[in-house]
Amino acid sequence: MTDTTPLDRYSRQMRFPGIGKAGQQKLLASRVTLCGCGALGTVLANVLVRAGVGFVRVVDRDFVEPSNLQRQVLFDESDVANNLPKAEAAAVKLRQINSSVAVEPVVADIDRTNIEDLCRDADLILDGSDNFEVRYLINDVAVKLGKPWVYGGAVGSQGMSMTIIPGETPCLRCVFEAAPNPGDVGTCETAGVLAPTVNIVASYQATEGLKLLSGNKDAVSRDLLIVDVWENTNRRVKVAPLKGRKGECPCCAKRTFEWLGGAHGTQTTTLCGRNAVQVSHRAAGKLDFEQLAATLRTSGVVSFNKFLLKFQLEEKGEPFEFTVFPDGRAIIKGTNDIAKARTLYAQFVGS
Ligand SMILES: [Zn+2]
Repeated sequence: MTDTTPLDRYSRQMRFPGIGKAGQQKLLASRVTLCGCGALGTVLANVLVRAGVGFVRVVDRDFVEPSNLQRQVLFDESDVANNLPKAEAAAVKLRQINSSVAVEPVVADIDRTNIEDLCRDADLILDGSDNFEVRYLINDVAVKLGKPWVYGGAVGSQGMSMTIIPGETPCLRCVFEAAPNPGDVGTCETAGVLAPTVNIVASYQATEGLKLLSGNKDAVSRDLLIVDVWENTNRRVKVAPLKGRKGECPCCAKRTFEWLGGAHGTQTTTLCGRNAVQVSHRAAGKLDFEQLAATLRTSGVVSFNKFLLKFQLEEKGEPFEFTVFPDGRAIIKGTNDIAKARTLYAQFVGS
């Protein structure tokens, strides 16, 4: 133990005039919900927790895989070997980095049934997700609850970021009215992604977050930022005139929250480019992994820890891998076919 005050670790940040001691106190009292803890999310969480944001809720549905390590800065090989969910693995690292921050890992798929509860007590919502469904849900909930959020996306060498302050700036649907069709846009799986793209976009997002939380709303960017680290371009698109779309924006002008209301979105999702399908199953109560493992061992190879269960099987010479979470959600690798995945799920995990 040293006799330095807890604030000393933030001295370089407090010396920056935009933050100061008053701004630091605000950060320490702030609460953030981070939606997604992959490439963007790990960089965001790293910055926030080091900066001393008081409470960080880390929500992610996935587990750590070897192909994540090239860019997902909080994870290492032991997380892969231990089959850890990203939210749990991130929480361990984040607490080592700054034990004074309350980190709450949530292993869950963000959907319209849980997003309000996940965001209600937050001062800021950060987008660390990799899909538009989650972003439109965040946009709905942020506008509904009047909370700021920061959008970010990165594919290949190109990334985008935009800060949304409900009532002051255009919302996501003012700028991008509908989600692009799957296949129209590249994904990290099909187009690849460079780690610097992710680091740069997430760093812009994190800076916007620090401005908002430290009481510097006036410093927030009002533009859509588009960067390309390979083509050496950096553009700022003026989006302010789109605010409300002349009263036609379904979200911020008409306040019909179509994604939150379930008019859009799905329960079973193809994980684009990954040859995998996520099947959501909302049975009451938690799955008993010990019992499930005993049943599955007759059909394939099973291993589990307290966070997830892995099950590998071959069916007619084709390999499939299930990753099952305690709430019954499963990611089934080896198919892009939703019907096939549902059949496999019903066959092995239960209907
Ligand atoms: Zn809008």
